[in-house]
Amino acid sequence: MKIGVLKETAPETRVALLPEHIPFIQKLNSTLLVESGAGEYAFSPDTAYANGGAAIASGESVIEESDIILCIGMPGPERQRLLKGKTVIGTFQPLFHKEVFAQLAADNITSFSLDMLPRTTRAQAMDVLSSQANIAGYKAVLTAANLFPRYFPMFMTAAGSIAPAKVLILGAGVAGLQAIATARRLGAVVEVFDTRPAVKEEVQSLGAKFVEVEGAADASKAGGYAVEQTEEFKQRQKEKIAQSAKKADIVITTAQIFGRQAPILLTKEMISDMKPGSVIIDIAASTGGNTEVTEDRKTITYNGVTIVGDSNLPATMPYDASKMYGKNMINFLQLLTDKEGGMHLNFEDELVAGACMTHAGEIKNERLK
Ligand code: NAD
Repeated sequence: MKIGVLKETAPETRVALLPEHIPFIQKLNSTLLVESGAGEYAFSPDTAYANGGAAIASGESVIEESDIILCIGMPGPERQRLLKGKTVIGTFQPLFHKEVFAQLAADNITSFSLDMLPRTTRAQAMDVLSSQANIAGYKAVLTAANLFPRYFPMFMTAAGSIAPAKVLILGAGVAGLQAIATARRLGAVVEVFDTRPAVKEEVQSLGAKFVEVEGAADASKAGGYAVEQTEEFKQRQKEKIAQSAKKADIVITTAQIFGRQAPILLTKEMISDMKPGSVIIDIAASTGGNTEVTEDRKTITYNGVTIVGDSNLPATMPYDASKMYGKNMINFLQLLTDKEGGMHLNFEDELVAGACMTHAGEIKNERLK
């Protein structure tokens, strides 16, 4: 089988597979075709792919010759037309782009979106949301530390004492937990909110304080994801977050609800009450953001508070991000190929079925339908 890797559209810097992943493709009895320049921003020139045994070609030839095409974002409309009859795998946020998938189905394109994988233990090795969220949480804190006009750690010096920075983290999923660990390593005092009480112990084990809000909706059947909360809960949570935000120097917001707009956790009023010079990093920016003023992929200032709407922090660490993304891809490809290197789609496998959006001219995913 032939597997192709496309160059992503700017400003994306990551690539779906690195040269170091080529031996895994060969183990699948498959060959790799790479669009020229695909790895440029991930410090992987064409020569590195060619030395590993891949063929370098134009994007059009990669699509034409490959059976499976790997990418991060969905290729643009012109390339989508060339994908007819092919299989494409990426991280496409399908529930926010329903019309694109209707077209893919009409064009008989088989598409898999790894952000739709069920969150089971078996899926962890191919969970792109986790591998990339880990980077986002880490880089969110480093970005905040760079923008913050004060120290993170506590210091007692002859020139006076410095109090440790107060970091507030909203949402303790994969990104939030990594943000807690990173902020703690830098010496900050950390407070955390999440609607899932199950994360309390993890938060505490990282040395942060978990602020509980009574009456959260039961999310135990939502596959690890958060669920929509009642208005009453939202009001109670808002009051508590307002108190914590007022004292915080840095706020990292990561709260998402699967397939929906992110919840607004910081209103304009709450931000106006924050200390000037404070920094908010909103990782949920691509699904609307957790503040009332977030603008995706933009840094703005509101009443002296800097708000970074950066939904693609993993792209600021393109090498490691691509390394983990590529390994996730390889692990998923193993489910789609047989020993001879042919494609074998077993829809009895919940991971194959869960990640498949379109196949044989139809939309396969129930939620997308
Ligand atoms: P996510 O990105 O969907 O959300 C981030 C966090 O925000 C979550 O912890 C969520 O509970 C929280 N949140 C949502 N609404 C909120 C609100 N109104 N206020 C405060 N917090 C709010 O989540 P994620 O990081 O992708 O992972 C969520 C869970 O899934 C975790 O428990 C994780 O361990 C689990 N998980 C399982 C697998 C797997 O088994 N394959 C993989 C990844 C994650």
